[in-house]
Amino acid sequence: MRKKAFSVLCCALFTVCLLLQKTSVSAAVINEGIITVASVTGNTGDTVIVPITIDENPGICGITVSISYDSSALEFIEDMMGNVIYEYLTKAHPDRNIIRLVTVEAGNKYNNGTLLNLKFKISDSAAAGLHKIDILYNSGDFCNWKLDRIMPEIVAGGVDVNLSESNCPHESYGEWTVASVATCTESGLEQHICTACGHVELRETQPLGHEFSNDYTIDKEATETEPGLMSRHCTRCKAVTDQLTFTLQQSETGDFDNNLYEEVPENEYINNMHKEQYPDTGTSSGSNEADSSSAENTETPESDIPDEENITSGNDPVFVPDIDTPLQAEQISVLQKIAEVFPDINSILNVLRYLIAALFSVILI
Ligand SMILES: [Zn+2]
Ligand SMILES: [Zn+2]
Repeated sequence: MRKKAFSVLCCALFTVCLLLQKTSVSAAVINEGIITVASVTGNTGDTVIVPITIDENPGICGITVSISYDSSALEFIEDMMGNVIYEYLTKAHPDRNIIRLVTVEAGNKYNNGTLLNLKFKISDSAAAGLHKIDILYNSGDFCNWKLDRIMPEIVAGGVDVNLSESNCPHESYGEWTVASVATCTESGLEQHICTACGHVELRETQPLGHEFSNDYTIDKEATETEPGLMSRHCTRCKAVTDQLTFTLQQSETGDFDNNLYEEVPENEYINNMHKEQYPDTGTSSGSNEADSSSAENTETPESDIPDEENITSGNDPVFVPDIDTPLQAEQISVLQKIAEVFPDINSILNVLRYLIAALFSVILI
């Protein structure tokens, strides 16, 4: 409070003297002194100190100037006293991009050195490059105790903000390169780097999809009792497609290319074997699918079966129908379907016999 009262008093005295000077004695003009605003560098978010110095000081007492700065990039924090003036006031006006500086010294100060240190915080969005800090003054804004007008040379400075990821416009990226390799089923990543600041930008790439070989791979060899299995393998991963079965006979003859094999239904290998052993009547008559399907102990007279559907051999007794009399393939198929619904057909027939006997018994009574 004491300092403030003293400052106000000095200001008042200074103003009175200035008024007296203007009305009574014509003041001299002194073109001396160099006042320099330093140039400092910093990154966005940094706090920096900008010294304002004076050289070739002709002896200064009063200063009433505006220090211009870019308030959008620099936030004024505080002033810190130098070693030339000691009684002064500052007031920031960020809306006008200026800091007002008024000295209230009670005599000339002749030494060179630092007038003032200004502390700024560089905003996170400050653009890269120099943000100028200057001193604006009119004739009479610098004077000595005699109210001579001092016209010093002003050297502007400022805060040079470094380029960083946060303030780079990223206008110059390099080529896209692979950061993470995509697989058949998983997406990958590509990156490109800003040549100005090193910022890395990523983008996702689509899965490659499987690339299946044109050739088949034998996954399981055929035996006398079980068919073999073949499929086309992906050249990049372990995926397979077009799984097919083949018989031992086909394996021995190498004759895989005339529809003697067929695609395996999804995870239904057994069903496939049923189909081969008991072809539907709708099956094309030229098909040889059943050639190797029936059991060896199934004797089927050729006269009862069309040549095209003749079951000549088989490797898997598991699928042989439990029927004593020779039947055509169609009849076998129908009985097979009945058997699926009624596992024990004999018990059904017994029930029917019982019902008929009961009916006759009722009629006779
Ligand atoms: Zn950049
Ligand atoms: Zn694959």
